[in-house]
Amino acid sequence: METKILSADDTDSTNAAVDEAVAILNEGGVVALPTETVYGLAADAMNADAVAQVFAIKERPSFDPLIVHVQGPEYLDEVAKDIPESVYELTDAFWPGALTFILPRTESVPDIVTAGLDTVAVRMSGNPVMKAVVEKLGRPVAAPSANRFGRISPTSAAAVEEELGGKIPLIINGGACHWGVESTIVRVEDPVPTHDKPKIRITVLRAGPVTVEDLKKLGRVRVENEPAASGETPEAPGRVESHYAPATPLRLLSSPKDFVPEEGKRYALMSFRGLDKDGYVPLHKWEHVEILSPGSGKLPEAAVRLFHVMRKLDALGVDEIIAEPVRDHLLGRAILERLKRAAIKG
Ligand code: AMP
Ligand code: MG
Repeated sequence: METKILSADDTDSTNAAVDEAVAILNEGGVVALPTETVYGLAADAMNADAVAQVFAIKERPSFDPLIVHVQGPEYLDEVAKDIPESVYELTDAFWPGALTFILPRTESVPDIVTAGLDTVAVRMSGNPVMKAVVEKLGRPVAAPSANRFGRISPTSAAAVEEELGGKIPLIINGGACHWGVESTIVRVEDPVPTHDKPKIRITVLRAGPVTVEDLKKLGRVRVENEPAASGETPEAPGRVESHYAPATPLRLLSSPKDFVPEEGKRYALMSFRGLDKDGYVPLHKWEHVEILSPGSGKLPEAAVRLFHVMRKLDALGVDEIIAEPVRDHLLGRAILERLKRAAIKG
């Protein structure tokens, strides 16, 4: 199959690209679309056969559920029921945006979307292309990251082509993704009214662009991180398996002192901020060094570059990629979570 790439760089080209994408989705096909997090492989969420293609093309195991995109909070009840009131406080604050809710599902959502779970993951993208496609289609869109299962999520149209070129009819090029890491996934529970100080309870199942610190700014919330699951049926499967992984082994170190190169092996370094006299860069004769956030050490810049840099390092054919950690706060948590997943071999 020939994969067409349409760019969405001005209003006219965006409209034309959106029309073409919607036509394909209406026929039960799939298309790759930009979102503010990473590129997604989209299908009509209410069409089980279309969604089956997403699983087949991604080689994604059927137990891994998809995220569904809706037009806005007022459309949540098309896919979810018993929605906690507090969810709407969060959608007011963070939608459209990189925040996904796990909610009890309605019967109308095909089982394949939720991997048979009685919950569904829902978000609303603010990316103009994705937003327009969902509105124009008039139905929810299922869209997991547009990569082969377990591989690095694509943050550009070129990366999607690398992953799925030849397997899908259309990629819409909306430029580089704003965040570069997947959405934050949360579970929300209403406050218990009998409590002294009733608080919305938010459990973060996957760290992402909407940080714990952002959620706390709402006030009257209690935010918890789901401890890394060790059971067989993790609440957010993306958290446990090897995920976001380059083919080259990746090792995440906690201190430069922990690195002892093996004779004859070639290593590439993924450094957070680069030169630091006691840091990783001067430590060793690296085959190649990539800096996530050159100079400034800014987390958003590092997040945007993370998967791009991982891809680049993976293509070098070195024996091992060594990753310097980032601080576990703000967006650093999302980055660190992905580095840990990438370091798991499975
Ligand atoms: P992706 O869109 O590729 O980032 O993957 C979607 C991820 O969302 C899955 O791997 C799960 O981690 C999570 N997810 C989707 N639906 C559910 C659900 N019903 N319950 C818990 N997690 C979910
Ligand atoms: Mg994914």
